[in-house]
Amino acid sequence: MFLKRVKDMEQKKLELYLHIPFCIRKCAYCDFLSAPADAPTREDYVEALVREIKRKGQMYAGYSVPSLFIGGGTPSVLSGEELIRVMEAVAASFFIEKSAEITIECNPGTLNEKKAADYRRAGINRVSIGLQSAIGRELALLGRIHTWEDFLKSYDILRRAGFSNINVDLMAALPGQTFRDWEYTLTQTVRLRPEHISAYSLLIEEGTPFFERYGEDAARRRAGGEPELLPDEETEVKMYEFTGSFLKKHGYRQYEISNYARPGMECRHNIGYWTLVNYLGLGLGSASLVEGERFSNTSNLGAYLGGDFEKKERQTLSRRNAMEEYMFLGLRMRAGVSREEFHGRFGVDPEAVYGQEIARLCTQGLLEQQAGRLRLTEEGILAGNYVMAEFIK
Ligand code: SF4
Repeated sequence: MFLKRVKDMEQKKLELYLHIPFCIRKCAYCDFLSAPADAPTREDYVEALVREIKRKGQMYAGYSVPSLFIGGGTPSVLSGEELIRVMEAVAASFFIEKSAEITIECNPGTLNEKKAADYRRAGINRVSIGLQSAIGRELALLGRIHTWEDFLKSYDILRRAGFSNINVDLMAALPGQTFRDWEYTLTQTVRLRPEHISAYSLLIEEGTPFFERYGEDAARRRAGGEPELLPDEETEVKMYEFTGSFLKKHGYRQYEISNYARPGMECRHNIGYWTLVNYLGLGLGSASLVEGERFSNTSNLGAYLGGDFEKKERQTLSRRNAMEEYMFLGLRMRAGVSREEFHGRFGVDPEAVYGQEIARLCTQGLLEQQAGRLRLTEEGILAGNYVMAEFIK
């Protein structure tokens, strides 16, 4: 392993996110900043990203990095050599903690033995693989480039390369999906015993082919009507509740609304994000929050390749905004928000700021207080948007 790591030290922490904005083909539901690109463009991008990494490494020299997440897009469209170049730049520019969690997102159909070995060599110790469904019909509908068999092959490659921390991404509430279909996908996934499973409901995003096809249906469902093509609300709730109980039976603990892990295998990077630790985004369009200041990179590929990485505007998070974010991000986690940590960060108890809201939500059975923490009840999770809105003024 070539990563030069430093001992965990009492330095300020900074999570890193690296964005790779390329995919083989655009999925029909996707509104992420990603697109297909030819090999020269990818090479130019790696060049530019390495330059940004070096520049930012100098600016944030006083921080140590407890986690790094390489996301996209499909980072695994880069060659192993390109990825190693990026990781060498990271290792030379930032203080990566000895125990850092280093994740890369991959999609089936873009992995091979050599890439997996290169990832290991580059110090990557966690892989998040996008499966979404175990059913060929659903994968085709989503516009995914792979089959269930492709996924099995990629999963096997990763295990044989020695990866012992794998997440599988799944997607529920797909058009035409029945409860039995979802049960089948979960069952097939659990048989492989990944360490972590993320299970999100499909969102119909504007500007995507899915919005054209299912936008009206989604709006009808939101308004309390009966959708024609998407699962109805009752089925979606049934899928969600089944996910929790089924995965629990198979040894996974739900630690966030949509995330489940075997004990000790929770994603540290995401937990940092939900607890408002400093994070620095590198690469096209990536967002950052450092010492209460929000800023982001340009989403214009030409500008980025030309070295014009960051947008000029910066926004300072007010104390009030920081409290709001701390509450609604913290409540996504099953452990909820620690009253002591809230006090440590803001110098007041949550009740001093949100006394009425907390009392009302507790009376409604949506929020509960347990061992010094405020957390959503099962009913509170299902009414998530309503509860979160209570903390945003
Ligand atoms: S692979 Fe992921 S990022 Fe790429 S188009 Fe599909 S959903 Fe979007």
